[in-house]
Amino acid sequence: MPARVLDGVKIRDEIFSELKSDIAKLRAQGIRPGLAAVLAGENPASQLYVKSKIAACEQLGMASWLHTPPAGVSTDYMLELVGDLNADGNVDGILIQLPLPPEIDSKRVLESVDPAKDVDGFHPVSLGRLVSNRPGLVACTPAGCMELLRRNDILLEGANAVVLGRSDIVGKPMALLLLHANATVTICHSKTRNLPDVIRRADILVAAIGKAGYVEADWIQPGAAVIDVGTNKVTDAAEAAQLLHNFPQRLEKFRARGNVLIGDVHPDAIQVAGALSPVPGGVGPMTITMLMSNTVKAARLRRTSNSATRDAQRSNTKQ
Ligand code: NAP
Repeated sequence: MPARVLDGVKIRDEIFSELKSDIAKLRAQGIRPGLAAVLAGENPASQLYVKSKIAACEQLGMASWLHTPPAGVSTDYMLELVGDLNADGNVDGILIQLPLPPEIDSKRVLESVDPAKDVDGFHPVSLGRLVSNRPGLVACTPAGCMELLRRNDILLEGANAVVLGRSDIVGKPMALLLLHANATVTICHSKTRNLPDVIRRADILVAAIGKAGYVEADWIQPGAAVIDVGTNKVTDAAEAAQLLHNFPQRLEKFRARGNVLIGDVHPDAIQVAGALSPVPGGVGPMTITMLMSNTVKAARLRRTSNSATRDAQRSNTKQ
């Protein structure tokens, strides 16, 4: 039997309707949560991402501002811009779209964001809170993966979870979130030995390496829950034919369009896994959703009284 699909679009809609009611309550108190996005330079993929983030703000009735410093701006310019956004009481979340142009010191810019407005969860203060399991703003993609697991009732406590990839924005925070949910966590990376055997022991697999279809179907434990974070654009016809040999309709679409989006897990895994997040339509929609959720949370924490205590309680009961 094919795996149950962990549908990111459905969960996004569920969370959006919860956020709409949270936002209505805030607006009744005169607070309109707002996100400021900073898009430096002219990266077309980044322009698309930022556009969809601003559109999500609009859909939810949140305020948004887009700052587009041209390519060639200095680190000092960026630091000054972030300083202004930190000081602006209407701005609850600051999003620095990555990658920044190479001449800008990304680390300095990210560390200059007020941690109270760090809706991407990249600031060392946010990471420190995550490590010590204290309430805070958590990186959007791993937070979204947790929502996909929890809202589909995947058992986390005591489960063997394998996280494939150890980046600061996906793999590491993902492993910590699973650990705090009482899973037994193994982190794999490019130097891991006998990777297929390690993956075969996983009740839950989160794959985030950026290699199309790298995880073979027969590495997956039958019935395992698989979260596929990878988003890889495949343009090579032979590669697409190998990956999609059991999916004639998708292959047809590839032939018409010249490209297809493939995760890090081979599409054939759907015949082995118990539950699987599709690419596209799984983790992707969850990342933007958690950015919206973090912005609302940041507004509540910063602008309403007693909210810190309430959020701490909420976060503790979730685990
Ligand atoms: P990254 O920074 O490039 O990190 C890749 C990680 O994978 C590294 O830890 C690397 O190991 C490991 N790795 C690479 N090849 C490997 C192999 N053959 N075997 C085992 N481990 C291997 O990537 P990232 O930013 O975490 O992103 C990963 C993927 O997720 C990409 O496809 C990206 O597009 C996607 N992504 C999707 C979303 C979304 O919203 N859907 C968001 C973020 C990222 P080493 O550390 O040893 O080099």
